[in-house]
Amino acid sequence: MSTAPSHDVSFTQPEYSAHAKAALGRKPALFINNEWVQSTHGATLAVEDPSTGREIARIVDASDADVDRAVNAARTAFDDGRWSHLPPMARERAILKLADLIEAHTAEFAELEAIDNGKPVGMATVVDVPGAVQHLRYMAGWTSKLGGDLVEPQGLPRGTVFSYVSREPVGVAAQIIPWNFPLLMACLKIAPALAAGCTLVLKPAEQTSITALRLADLVSQAGFPPGVINIITGNGHTAGAALVRHPGVDKIAFTGSTEVGKIINRDATATLKRVTLELGGKSPVVVMPDVNPEEVAAGAAGAIFFNSGQVCIAGSRLFAHRSVFDKVIEGISQATAFWKPRPSLDPQGHMGPLVSKEQLDRVMGYIEAGKRDGASVAVGGDTAGSSGYYVNPTILVDVKPSMSVVQEEIFGPVVVAQRFDDLEEVAKAANDTCFGLGAGIWTRDVSAMHRLAAKIKAGTVWGNCHAIIDPALPFGGFKQSGFGREQGRAGIDAYTELKTVIIKL
Ligand code: ADP
Ligand code: MG
Repeated sequence: MSTAPSHDVSFTQPEYSAHAKAALGRKPALFINNEWVQSTHGATLAVEDPSTGREIARIVDASDADVDRAVNAARTAFDDGRWSHLPPMARERAILKLADLIEAHTAEFAELEAIDNGKPVGMATVVDVPGAVQHLRYMAGWTSKLGGDLVEPQGLPRGTVFSYVSREPVGVAAQIIPWNFPLLMACLKIAPALAAGCTLVLKPAEQTSITALRLADLVSQAGFPPGVINIITGNGHTAGAALVRHPGVDKIAFTGSTEVGKIINRDATATLKRVTLELGGKSPVVVMPDVNPEEVAAGAAGAIFFNSGQVCIAGSRLFAHRSVFDKVIEGISQATAFWKPRPSLDPQGHMGPLVSKEQLDRVMGYIEAGKRDGASVAVGGDTAGSSGYYVNPTILVDVKPSMSVVQEEIFGPVVVAQRFDDLEEVAKAANDTCFGLGAGIWTRDVSAMHRLAAKIKAGTVWGNCHAIIDPALPFGGFKQSGFGREQGRAGIDAYTELKTVIIKL
């Protein structure tokens, strides 16, 4: 595959709708106490359309004073009980209403997400927006079902002491999210916090804040009292770091790179905030010898090329049994036609550009490093288009476990492929990583499936599929992929403190 010539008009981004233009043309502001407020220092950041590389809007780069104001709003709203003391069913209704409002604006959110992040508008319509709505609806139900436990002490005579364990909201949550699924991540984060009775300050990634800001417009309408949901924009090392250090914050929920996760964990230690971290991955996809290679190839291609590989659970290390390796690689190579990059508003597109120039350089840097280390490019390996940040779907073969392309998270449409001969060997190779987020196993051999699922160190194992995420199923990482779990019962528990009450009768 060769780089598209610079006059290639097929990479032209279609025109934005009037709704999108209105959202992008807004005066940069922060959402605090259900009001749009100006920053104290007036600094702003550029918002780009990665399909064109052009600046399309500006957002506030929040100052320390702005962060302080947002946290204080959340703190006051938590401490006076205007949210946590509401009847749980009233909280549930507000969360459901927010879900309905987002759903009613699906087309607008999908377009904005496509423009801002670069993902195909079709994908945003069927994945990101419905996913955001689902997380809210699922967690809304826990609001009225959290409950507590009656637990009797075992070292005292019966009937002398009455004791119970209740769950209380942990307090003010600071939620910091990445740029790969902006609206989905925002809703995945705010849903359990709101359901538990917490108040929050959400900081979307500086590259992709547009849909979170649009979400803020719906907060009052959904019935949330002022200060419950505050949304501020700004750089990570300034606004993000100020949030993490703020003494008014009780809990940090972070999704992003392992590198930043470690910084956040350290910064949160000074005041012993509760921390959950959902970090990077280098997820293996294991293809056993009994499969139909053509069928599996489509799944393995989707596992890495969906969202341009900018997915923490991307199936970025392919291990195919020696007997099917060539056929699987051939099948993935053919599948790259489906995943060839297109501008995000092209309704026929399945893969967009990468989110930023920084990300493009990073991904191309890895491909070059792989080649220098002796890897061969089976397909792709190059950029596309004359502007915008397009990278063609790439397969690297002839790789060795020590190479950076095998060990490090590339976060792009690049898969490294290796052969294996037996199950023990592939289990060991799959675990030869500092990460442990996801893993895929493809086989019709039930015994091999379960043996491998037990051996692989990962928070989620998929069998004959990849990246199915459901709000009811806990999600999180082993090893340096993070700690804590989001979604499911575990997801809401992470926003609560247990209180044990012991009364002598
Ligand atoms: P990536 O490297 O993929 O851009 P990051 O982990 O850097 O992902 O960013 C994820 C989120 O973390 C973003 O919202 C970013 O602003 C924020 N962030 C980055 N650095 C820090 C930091 N030192 N403290 C708090 N938040 C940060
Ligand atoms: Mg970064």
